[in-house]
Amino acid sequence: VALAAALIAASIPLAAPALAQDAIDRKVDALLKQMTLQEKVGQLHQLSGAEATGPEAAKRASQNTEIRAGNVGSMLNIKGAKDTREAQALALQSRLKIPLLFGLDVIHGYKTVFPVPIGEAASWDLEAIEQSAQVAAREAAAAGIHWTFAPMVDIGRDPRWGRVMEGAGEDTYLGSKIAAARVRGFQGPKLGATDRVMATAKHFAAYGAAVAGRDYNAVDMSLQQLYEVYLPPFKASVDAGVATFMNSFNTLNGVPATGSAFLQRDILKGAWKYKGFVVSDWASVKEMVLHGYAKDLPDAAVKAINAGSDMDMEGEAYIAHLAQAVKDGRVAQKHVDDAVRRILRKKFEMGLFDDPYRFSDAQREQAVLADPRHRAIARDVARKSLVLLKNDKLNGNAILPLAKNAKSIAVIGPLADSRRDLEGGWVVSDVRGEVVSILDGIRNHAQGAQISHAAACAPGCATAEGFDAAVAAAGKADVIVLAVGETWDMSGEAKSRTDIGLPGQQTELFRRLKATGKPVVAVLFAGRPMIFNEIADNADAILYAWFPGSEGGNAVADVLFGDYNPSAKLPATFPRNLGQIPISYAQYNTGRPVTSEKDIVYRSAYIDSPNTPRYAFGHGKSYTEFGYSGVQLDRTILRPGQTATLSFELQNKGKVAGTEIAQLYIRDTVASVVRPVKELKGFTKVHLQPGERRRVTFTIDRDTLSFFNGDLKWGAEPGEFKLMVGSASDDIRLETTLHLQ
Ligand code: BGC
Repeated sequence: VALAAALIAASIPLAAPALAQDAIDRKVDALLKQMTLQEKVGQLHQLSGAEATGPEAAKRASQNTEIRAGNVGSMLNIKGAKDTREAQALALQSRLKIPLLFGLDVIHGYKTVFPVPIGEAASWDLEAIEQSAQVAAREAAAAGIHWTFAPMVDIGRDPRWGRVMEGAGEDTYLGSKIAAARVRGFQGPKLGATDRVMATAKHFAAYGAAVAGRDYNAVDMSLQQLYEVYLPPFKASVDAGVATFMNSFNTLNGVPATGSAFLQRDILKGAWKYKGFVVSDWASVKEMVLHGYAKDLPDAAVKAINAGSDMDMEGEAYIAHLAQAVKDGRVAQKHVDDAVRRILRKKFEMGLFDDPYRFSDAQREQAVLADPRHRAIARDVARKSLVLLKNDKLNGNAILPLAKNAKSIAVIGPLADSRRDLEGGWVVSDVRGEVVSILDGIRNHAQGAQISHAAACAPGCATAEGFDAAVAAAGKADVIVLAVGETWDMSGEAKSRTDIGLPGQQTELFRRLKATGKPVVAVLFAGRPMIFNEIADNADAILYAWFPGSEGGNAVADVLFGDYNPSAKLPATFPRNLGQIPISYAQYNTGRPVTSEKDIVYRSAYIDSPNTPRYAFGHGKSYTEFGYSGVQLDRTILRPGQTATLSFELQNKGKVAGTEIAQLYIRDTVASVVRPVKELKGFTKVHLQPGERRRVTFTIDRDTLSFFNGDLKWGAEPGEFKLMVGSASDDIRLETTLHLQ
């Protein structure tokens, strides 16, 4: 926190010249009047920049011609002060000199790589998440980028879907808070500062609910689910001022999101009064032809713009066919004008008409990308994202933290000295910095100890040839740290898996190591919840590290050696087996509830598996223990206009300082539509010294108790609400009841 404060104080960003909204609107209108139809369509066209040299040079030359002609409104995948400056110079040769917007997928860092978003979400630390986005923005903005295609705010309840990596997990409440934090971090308080970028809430909407977890697959869901679970993080992004939206590849109840007027016009621009613009996903306008929703490219262009998709990303539809469609009367001029207005407004708000090069400053780029504070923040965020799933006792002592003076440690596994895998997917090629591997991190900490290392197999672990040597080395050590998991490219876009276990022979490697009789600490890497029952049962300790980023090795070692007491909690349920998927703690009850796992006859249960997950949403251990007691409600009846305060005492009962994430869940016991058995409605992170006690409070108002009823109206219904406070969704410590009048 202190670091971030220093960072904020030290950077003196250039704020965009303050123009009142109506002054901007007047300028936009004046400019619009000068534009030809073709120039307008040009603003709606976004191109992915080809390389200026090498095999793509010819393509780049023709792109340059288009930019000069005023046929391009935005570019993606161009970065760096020099290259963005050169491209901008071309736009300034066009008749109206309208500057380009430069967009890029800055998902979890630009040069400094932060944990993948699902990892950051495990911190439940809104301040840390905001800082991470802020640093990413600062680095990207110094490299000429105006706009990141992040945050992804899709809810994910199916870990087969590889893009759960890019989101904030399964929960709507947590996801909404994190969405807003990321938007604030990327954009800052007001658009246009040269150390921030515009954010994008994506993918609108319901992209995370692809049937069977297969990326790009159809989505079929009730409006109730859509409103209740999938839309709120988007609404939270609007409320946080997000500059842009991206639509999505999937169909929703039969209509491609890109062609959905229901999503883009009725909900987003209508009900939510959204003033930013919507960019399509990569060629998603064109994909409507493949969906069988548009008969050809011109038809796709018509359907997308009429539905409210403003900008065509890497598309050939708008630029080639929109002008003609307007002339033919298939698209109303006002739809094109509205889209252009929305885009121009952002260009003004970013200050680009005053100085089109204000983000492309080679000197600033050099200085900012070398700022060592960014790595310190990345290490801090990474430590906060590491989830301690298990920590057994051995001879009365917990296996972790490892004694600083542990005499010999064997660091084994294909990911022990891997750097690329620690970064995860969606990193910006050629600019990213050094990565600290797990082995580096352990060496940095355990000076004096004897560290042996064996990879045992290459990442992916296809063969077991190296196992004998690794087991022999491990047998000589006091403790084994085993680094296994997915490789960086197994989670992310188009990385759906039908088997979410440890890839290759890694479980066999664990078995062999465990057979040595030495304690095994498993450090698991992945962009998704994996299934690893044998390790869950038999490892002595398990740290879930996600893909922790540039400082991952140091962060993991900080936790292994107790310099940081782990505090993270799972933002998604970890299933026991594939058959339980999709799975969420916030399930609806059935008329056949299971009260005991033994009593499953004619209950809503499996005959071959418990219903309970392997690790529940909200689970995560600490090196200390927390006690919850003394729950109080300042009122038991909540009348209109009132708020209630729930309080309880949290105590650190252990011997080391630690941070607990206390969670508030509610249940509406009887309602006009069946409510989930538990819904997260609050959480707080509390740091306590050994023995320290503190009274912790949650505020509950009508909104806390509200939901979308059968008519999709938001509101609370009078009656009884169960309030539950605990350390995880399956570890409720305190309960009380509130009546709403
Ligand atoms: C992804 C988006 C991304 C875009 C641009 C698409 O394939 O779905 O999330 O922003 O590409 O790279």
